[in-house]
Amino acid sequence: MGKIQMATPLVEMDGDEMTRILWGWIKEELLSPFLDLNTEYYDLGLKYRDETNDKVTLAAAEAIKKYKVGVKCATITPNAARVEEYHLKEMYKSPNATIRSCLDGTVFRTPILVKGIEPCVKSWKKPITIARHAYGDVYKNAEMKIPGAGRVELVYTNEKGEETRELVQEFQESGIVQGIHNLTSSIESFAKSCFSYALDCHEDLWFSSKDTISKKYDHTFKDIFQEIYEAEYKEKFEKENLTYFYTLIDDAVARIMKAEGGFIWACKNYDGDVMSDMVSSAFGSLAMMTSVLVSPKGYFEYEAAHGTVQRHYYQYLEGKQTSTNPVATIFAWSGALRKRGELDGNAELEQFADKLEQAVLKVIESGKMTKDLAAITTDTSVTVLNSLDFIKEIRKELEVI
Ligand code: NAD
Repeated sequence: MGKIQMATPLVEMDGDEMTRILWGWIKEELLSPFLDLNTEYYDLGLKYRDETNDKVTLAAAEAIKKYKVGVKCATITPNAARVEEYHLKEMYKSPNATIRSCLDGTVFRTPILVKGIEPCVKSWKKPITIARHAYGDVYKNAEMKIPGAGRVELVYTNEKGEETRELVQEFQESGIVQGIHNLTSSIESFAKSCFSYALDCHEDLWFSSKDTISKKYDHTFKDIFQEIYEAEYKEKFEKENLTYFYTLIDDAVARIMKAEGGFIWACKNYDGDVMSDMVSSAFGSLAMMTSVLVSPKGYFEYEAAHGTVQRHYYQYLEGKQTSTNPVATIFAWSGALRKRGELDGNAELEQFADKLEQAVLKVIESGKMTKDLAAITTDTSVTVLNSLDFIKEIRKELEVI
């Protein structure tokens, strides 16, 4: 049988360390034998980012704007130790942050459910997707230590030089203050990405904040979501029998613990940061969490939620076999291929993406898995495989599906 053709390229962004090794094996064993893989390749490995003064990351982001769909391998975000290890010219920004600021998107993280790996929360039967707003709030703040008595005010000066003031606190003793902000345009993009993604996945959307306490800040988030919903999405949601549901963050947390799953939970920046780790850990493992950046302009970038698995890479360099879990990276590829197929009207490609995911789940459900999953499965007869053997088992399955 001939290989499946792809009319439009996918933007392929290679990465670092163990995930870069997995990337090569996934292409060799699971993609190239079945697809005439059409990608525009960008090497976001740290060495090449340094050689290009990080221009390659911007070029990759521009390519996603052109082709609309990208798939990204995990990459190193340099810190002081990495600057030394790789003899870097500078401490570059995280590629994810660079790409996100170019595409202006929201990140959606979804756990991959498989029989034998049971969520800690018994009621969870379907995945819960976390949509995290990725701009502003405490991540772009101004903070001050207040040494002693004195007045702290918020001062807004408009373009004409006119001031508006709001008292924060009349300090009688030492303390601390923090100033945070957000932008209407960013909240609008966040809301639109969430509504579009919910329609795309055919799932309900929840959004939560603390508007009863934060009557201007959080309330603005609530209002913007509601206005955009009414104006642009209400009809579409009703037609699809979907619900948009706003509630307080504390109520959302309480409800989540009793819910079945199968919906998207949109969170403000900090809430999303905290809740996505809670959700991924409770569903099983970071290695079973997919991540997609969705821009309101219709660009999609797929990746695994985890990092480059540095410790395994050093073992690999010593010539040792590692049992690194490639599932989230495989699902990044299947997600991107499915979206490519959908946008190009290429049903064969969409079916291939489904089959690839089915093959992965079938192998795990047959008791063959990587070490991290073996440690948390309820399955009593398990064969622990190294990464390449696990990928080869998936290939065998894919050949017969
Ligand atoms: P990590 O996700 O690589 O590892 C965290 C822990 O989870 C480790 O104990 C690791 O062994 C385990 N783990 C993660 N994925 C696994 C997998 N697929 N199979 C088995 N075990 C797995 O995060 P880290 O150690 O904090 O960071 C390592 C590097 O990755 C850093 O340089 C960081 O900058 C980068 N990073 C990149 C991304 C990204 O590109 N999206 C995200 C996070 C971290």
